[in-house]
Amino acid sequence: MTDNASKPKIDLHMHTTLSDGKLTPTELVRLLAERDVSIAAISDHDSTEGLDEAFAAATAHPGLRLVPAIEISADHPTDTKGDIHMLGYFLDYQQEAFQAKLLSFREDREYRGYHMVQRLAEQGYSVDWERVKAIAADAGIGRPHIAQALVERGYIAQVRDAFDGLLNDDGIAFVDRRHISTRDAVDLIRGVGGVAVLAHPVFLPDYRDVIATLPDLGVEGIEVHYAEFDSELRKELGELADRYGLLQCGGSDYHAMGYDGENLPGTAGPPLEVLEELERRAKSRSS
Ligand code: AMP
Ligand code: ZN
Ligand code: FE
Ligand code: FE
Repeated sequence: MTDNASKPKIDLHMHTTLSDGKLTPTELVRLLAERDVSIAAISDHDSTEGLDEAFAAATAHPGLRLVPAIEISADHPTDTKGDIHMLGYFLDYQQEAFQAKLLSFREDREYRGYHMVQRLAEQGYSVDWERVKAIAADAGIGRPHIAQALVERGYIAQVRDAFDGLLNDDGIAFVDRRHISTRDAVDLIRGVGGVAVLAHPVFLPDYRDVIATLPDLGVEGIEVHYAEFDSELRKELGELADRYGLLQCGGSDYHAMGYDGENLPGTAGPPLEVLEELERRAKSRSS
């Protein structure tokens, strides 16, 4: 057996049509199996609505194990701009109060999406709100859905161009929305037996300060093995994780956008020991 064959492919971060990914849960599960991913976490933004379908699809692929997950947007006290993204793993996600909370986040997304479409119109970018809702379909409305409508109208060439002055955090049509605090996001995740992990830390300008605050908030890991991070960044994040006693997690953050060089499922993720430790911690609290 080669070294590679003995190492399971693990990827703990990806999205489906239930947030801003382009593949349905069933399609994504099929791709995971094709790519020989052995352990995967679907982590849609503010939603676990894709998980039942994904688990059902995965029964056809005995070599693939799914971990129930989510990615929740939150405001962090020491972070001045934008939102942080908190991943949650091993969630007992069907609990009613949890689902009610997620539904309220998706409702806030709709309200905020409507206002961004109005801002765009004021700036001469006319996109149809009904079209944005149709693009989002079963997902809470996110900027990538509005961006898709801008692509369809020919204002921009691809979705990511919308984050270059229009919909990015200081773009002319950006509208913020109410977020829960990091602490509340962590409590929500832990309240359903989950383990909280900070997503892509270096997207935050002050990530070193943010990471220092995590242990006191009940966050147990940070993404280190993130597909987009080079080895130097992973080394720095690994050292920060060790300093603060945080697990080193990660994944591809696959959205199936079809960009050249897009990081595919299974291209990044933590070693098996980390996954086992996440699971051990979740189990120790649920019993
Ligand atoms: P929202 O949740 O509506 O605030 O939209 C944020 C989402 O937009 C992120 O989770 C990414 O999926 C996507 N996104 C953010 N920045 C960029 C970017 N520069 N290029 C492409 N997608 C982005
Ligand atoms: Zn996303
Ligand atoms: Fe994210
Ligand atoms: Fe993500």
